[in-house]
Amino acid sequence: MEFLPQVIFLLLLSASGFFITKSILRIRRNILLGRDINRYDRPGERLKMMTLVALGQKKMFKRPLPAILHLFVYVGFIIINIEVLEIIIDGLFGTHRIFAPVFKGLYPSLINIFEFLAISVLVSCAIFLVRRNIIKVKRFDGEEMKRWPKLDANIILSIEIFLMICFLSMNTSDGILQTRGSEHYIATGDFFFTGFLKPLFNGLDNSELIFIERFGWWAHIIGILAFAMYVFTDSKHLHIFIAFPNTYFSKLDPAGRLSNMPEVTKEVKLMLNLPVDAGNDNAAPGRFGAKDVQDLTWKNLMEAYSCTECGRCTSQCPANLTGKKLSPRKIMMDTRDRLEEVGRNIEEKGKDHQDGKSLLGDYITVEEIMACTTCNACVEACPVNIDPVSIILQLRRFKIMEESQAPASWNGMFSNIENNFAPWKFSPSDRLNWVQKLNQ
Ligand code: SF4
Ligand code: SF4
Repeated sequence: MEFLPQVIFLLLLSASGFFITKSILRIRRNILLGRDINRYDRPGERLKMMTLVALGQKKMFKRPLPAILHLFVYVGFIIINIEVLEIIIDGLFGTHRIFAPVFKGLYPSLINIFEFLAISVLVSCAIFLVRRNIIKVKRFDGEEMKRWPKLDANIILSIEIFLMICFLSMNTSDGILQTRGSEHYIATGDFFFTGFLKPLFNGLDNSELIFIERFGWWAHIIGILAFAMYVFTDSKHLHIFIAFPNTYFSKLDPAGRLSNMPEVTKEVKLMLNLPVDAGNDNAAPGRFGAKDVQDLTWKNLMEAYSCTECGRCTSQCPANLTGKKLSPRKIMMDTRDRLEEVGRNIEEKGKDHQDGKSLLGDYITVEEIMACTTCNACVEACPVNIDPVSIILQLRRFKIMEESQAPASWNGMFSNIENNFAPWKFSPSDRLNWVQKLNQ
């Protein structure tokens, strides 16, 4: 019985570790369903990009207020987790505040920093809840943000508030028990911020304080383990981790430079009597463009898991702003949902199972993809460098090149490009006629 808490703790830790590992392997397998693309070049530039965008949150600061609140939550999340290390060691070995004798006088300062961050996280999450549910900021709205995505955001904000309350009440009761010389509660020095909460707890006797302290301790660690498992299931909060590889493997070329299809480029070059790259000789695509998630690249699929559903892309999208059905956020969310569905099919019915569904048609409509102007405003706005245009273009290429279903108004332009090497209906030999008119 003496070791029961440690045994329970070890079981909880092992179960969550097993679940998280399984989820990571599932996500990795799903991402690797995509086609290959080379994003392993220029490591220095990639590292810089990751440091600035993922770690430094550079693009978030285009909107300073949410950026500062988000920074508190982000830094708080990372730094408070240092405390989790102490909790894990205490939980496994039955000790209490094992780092206190190690860090000595520095320990209360560390706890004070954690407490400041905990209060900042608590306040920031409360403001985020108000922005989403009472003020109803427009970019958090939209067809794709009903039901689960809305609930997901509210659940995670509420869990974070709950975790911070547990942490603060644990420290407050611990601080009082220390001053009363209670057994096991070694003197560590005063905790500044929870010192202000002591009057709320002072009237309680030792057994009540120990109950609150133990409840806060267990709830805090169980909450963190549950949070970690939840993040790796079907939550947008996976971006906390995956934003780092996602920004590292970002497209480094200018955003407006579209990726050509090598096999088509070769044909065009042959038509124009231009030299053909040796590497393109044997390019043979299985399919032009993309109909389903397996036709996209692994980077597109990684981006689908990285989307924070913040809506910055949709709020900048000219197609969306002028009332079209297109929302780049929905493109990313649909891609992730379809990818998860394909992954479940593989687990339940085998690798070759066809469910008769596809990303294009069952999730994303032709009307949506044809509304894109390829302006790249969404790419520019995304705080984690996601590129919805790349997915849109691949779906569009499939529709046009495999199914010959371009909008009627585009077909004339395609014929002109094919015959006149330009979108206009004039013969190339007539292009300079306007110069002759200048001389008349
Ligand atoms: S590139 Fe397309 S999806 Fe992105 S902002 Fe422009 S119109 Fe919208
Ligand atoms: S694609 Fe980027 S900007 Fe758009 S919702 Fe996702 S994270 Fe936000």
